[in-house]
Amino acid sequence: VKNSGQCFKNQAAIDWNLSLYILVQATTTSLAVGSLVWVEDSDIAWIDGEVMQVNGEDIKVLCTSGKTVVVKASNVYPKDAEAPSCGVDDMTKLAYLHEPGILQNLKSRYDMNEIYAIASNGFFQTYTGNILIAVNPFRKLPHLYDSHMMAQYKGADFGELSPHPFAVADAAYRLMINEGISQSILVSGESGAGKTESTKLLMQYLAYMGGRAAAEERTVEQKVLESNPVLEAFGNAKTVRNNNSSRFGKFVEIQFDPRGRISGAAVRTYLLERSRVCQVSDPERNYHCFYMLCAAPSEDTKRYKLGNPRAFHYLNQSNCYELDGIDDSKEYAATRRAMDVVGISSEEQDAIFRVVASILHLGNIEFAKGKEVDSSVPKDEKSWFHLRTAAELLMIVDKINSSIGQDSDSKFLIGVLDIYGFESFKTNSFEQFCINLTNEKLQQHFNQHVFKMEQEEYTKEEINWSYIEFVDNQDVLDLIEKKPGGIIALLDEACMFPRSTHETFAQKLYQTFKNHKRFSKPKLSRSDFTICHYAGDVTYQTELFLDKNKDYVVAEHQALLTASKCSFVSGLFPPLAQESSKSSKFSSIGSRFKQQLLSLLETLSSTEPHYIRCVKPNNLLKPSIFENKNVLQQLQCGGVMEAIRISCAGYPTKKPFVEFVDRFSLLAPEVLDGSSDEVAACKKLLKKVGLQGYQVNV
Ligand code: ATP
Ligand code: MG
Repeated sequence: VKNSGQCFKNQAAIDWNLSLYILVQATTTSLAVGSLVWVEDSDIAWIDGEVMQVNGEDIKVLCTSGKTVVVKASNVYPKDAEAPSCGVDDMTKLAYLHEPGILQNLKSRYDMNEIYAIASNGFFQTYTGNILIAVNPFRKLPHLYDSHMMAQYKGADFGELSPHPFAVADAAYRLMINEGISQSILVSGESGAGKTESTKLLMQYLAYMGGRAAAEERTVEQKVLESNPVLEAFGNAKTVRNNNSSRFGKFVEIQFDPRGRISGAAVRTYLLERSRVCQVSDPERNYHCFYMLCAAPSEDTKRYKLGNPRAFHYLNQSNCYELDGIDDSKEYAATRRAMDVVGISSEEQDAIFRVVASILHLGNIEFAKGKEVDSSVPKDEKSWFHLRTAAELLMIVDKINSSIGQDSDSKFLIGVLDIYGFESFKTNSFEQFCINLTNEKLQQHFNQHVFKMEQEEYTKEEINWSYIEFVDNQDVLDLIEKKPGGIIALLDEACMFPRSTHETFAQKLYQTFKNHKRFSKPKLSRSDFTICHYAGDVTYQTELFLDKNKDYVVAEHQALLTASKCSFVSGLFPPLAQESSKSSKFSSIGSRFKQQLLSLLETLSSTEPHYIRCVKPNNLLKPSIFENKNVLQQLQCGGVMEAIRISCAGYPTKKPFVEFVDRFSLLAPEVLDGSSDEVAACKKLLKKVGLQGYQVNV
């Protein structure tokens, strides 16, 4: 990962100078023989040890593994010998805010099932902009989330109890009530890190706080909570990374009345992975709804003419049919119940499942007849038709929204965003490109917020400071989004010319961006391109970019479906206006997604953000395994290291005079002689020890 971690390390020495507290700590732990330190390790990222010998810049360290290494002094980091073995809740309280210290803290907590920690507790003590780290336990911890827990967090000060998503939701709720400002909670992390689970906890807590005492028939909060199983049935699937992977992004907006009670809600979804409907690789699965329907009670399977999932091409491309611990027939019943709760009538449910079933049948027709299929229907177009049909199923989202009801008068809302984290795989296609664009946008939002708040604080306190540099990613965003001339615009152009191929598209990119410092062409490839993202370099394969960006329905199919007797099906494909010209008919996934992001960011910027960074401690999806390198990489990609660097680069430690004297007067006890003036004592003390890079604000 590019330089976020590195920067932080290199800068650490300078940063310490800016901090009263940390500098003093650093001097007491100089690199003398016998001091405890961290050094880099190729297997476990960081290993601790003891300094055996100091030879100018060369430091000999005996590691706890028994190995002896000689390293440069600049690569040796002090280890806090007094750090509690159980770790600390709030990592800004660590004596050393460096990579190994942060990692060690998370690990020792994780070993005790303490899966949450705070990486930054916000600004002005208002707790907006706080960052909660959540490390996936991969085991059930029900005691952490029961109603007793919710009652405890209700009204407790942030930081008073252990870090928890409930604490974040509570802080957001209270800020909304007290300050009258809308809030948002942004949950991010890689696939399987625990975003959706965290999101559900946030929603559970907000429903608890904003719920009505009297049990009215179907309360809004019940509908909000039950929207989750419905969305998951149609939008989640088993992947190699997660048995219940969300294949779409989601922004849930919960609206409140002035008394803090839930008055409405809206769910917005982003970019469903359509290709999964007709293409599944072993050992993944298609969307849960297909397997559920195959496992439905016999009267339903008879009606939809379904049966064994192994009989369907869209399902039997993979050998995985069942999921550990999941009973699809029970899930079917639960989904039906949830659909009832959110207000989808049984006729509508029937129509939805008829479409689900017909997709499976369509998949088989294509497969069984092979070459005999009317040759005038090209294979591509057909597959686009299937994609479109199925993907539009998520229109149930609209249904949920209209049933829950939005409160257009509501002035306050809390939005919860569950969106795919940064992705970099062996092969990266259009989906990764869109996902990483999302993350660039959110990262920019995060940087701007963190900086703005720091800056405002300094201005308010009349502290002199020069604006510190941070990794600004506007140039990546321009590279991708600029209109005209950005990658998305060039892709749209390529999609409109019938003769373009992915190769001509790639050539165009190479030509246009040959001097762009965020863009490069991999040496051995003729159609790949690399973008230097804030979280690292990603090389994209352009092969399917054009196909995946095109979004149209073949006119004949459109006509066929519009004529359907089922109003649900015909409603999915409203007839296009006759006169609409060819170019206006063209719509691209990329541009539409860009628009969606724009509007999401607009919503977010009118709110006070809170962040939850989910971390996946291992790729085996098993409990009790904490892989250092893996975790570190995620902290870097999620901007956590960068955020800590940012807070270190200013004046991270603000100590009241009394506390400062209390803690450090032992360095020069004489400063206290005969004086009760703490300010004067502090000034004398600072002078006496020759500290640089501090400011005293009276
Ligand atoms: P994706 O991007 O693929 O949708 P995700 O980040 O949403 O991934 P989740 O589906 O939330 O990941 O979590 C994956 C799995 O990890 C869950 O199905 C659950 O088994 C486990 N898990 C996550 N968070 C917790 C938790 N707090 N307690 C217990 N198990 C958890
Ligand atoms: Mg998810």
